[in-house]
Amino acid sequence: MTLSIVKNATCTFCGCVCDDIELHAEGEKIVKTKGACSLGESWFKHHTAERLYPDALIDGKPATVDHAVEAAANYLYDANMPLVYGLSNITCEAQREAVFLAEIIGGVIDSHTSL
Ligand code: SF4
Repeated sequence: MTLSIVKNATCTFCGCVCDDIELHAEGEKIVKTKGACSLGESWFKHHTAERLYPDALIDGKPATVDHAVEAAANYLYDANMPLVYGLSNITCEAQREAVFLAEIIGGVIDSHTSL
């Protein structure tokens, strides 16, 4: 299999956004990283360009995105204290939408950094 090397790759895992990482890939799989910390290395090595999952799941079963959005809206509507949590590995625009969502559902928001 052909080895390809990407220099100055950017890691978006933790928010530090290290942009001097070298990646070695065989096909669609990253097999080696240089310059990434252990978290970044794990993140890169466990992501591929393959489609491993369906677009959406409802109760662990494949679903359309429209049905999944509707199911999520129902869960949030029925929740007593909704928590919007996570927000790493997403764009600023998506974070803005998450904050807006927390506001309109009367929920609270937190990121993984609270761990
Ligand atoms: S390489 Fe490590 S420190 Fe840098 S962005 Fe990735 S997880 Fe964060």
